[in-house]
Amino acid sequence: MKKIQGNDSLQRINYLYQISKKVVEKNPVLSAYYGNLAVNVAKKNVLKIHPDIKRQLCKKCRCVLIDKKSAKVKIKTKNKAKHIELTCNTCKMTKEYPANKGKSHRLWLENPEAVVEIVN
Ligand SMILES: [Zn+2]
Repeated sequence: MKKIQGNDSLQRINYLYQISKKVVEKNPVLSAYYGNLAVNVAKKNVLKIHPDIKRQLCKKCRCVLIDKKSAKVKIKTKNKAKHIELTCNTCKMTKEYPANKGKSHRLWLENPEAVVEIVN
């Protein structure tokens, strides 16, 4: 098992994000709590959360948005450009962002690169 340095804020954020992701299906409120903690750690240390992680957090309640588990994902087409719309199952907040142009149509949710580091 890899040791996690307590002082490394980025690792802490990554760790909180992963716990948040693990508990979201069973307990979205707890997930939102960890999501909030991660955001607060980032704010306190003036750090930017990795955009892939940021995209997965609900902007209102901060729980992790996972398709069919904690969020509904819709693909919309606007002016010929694809957009991904996420609806949080916990607070019903929606967020939308453009799908990557020219890249594969795989959702970022399914992308293994979205996971920076696995912590067990
Ligand atoms: Zn939410």
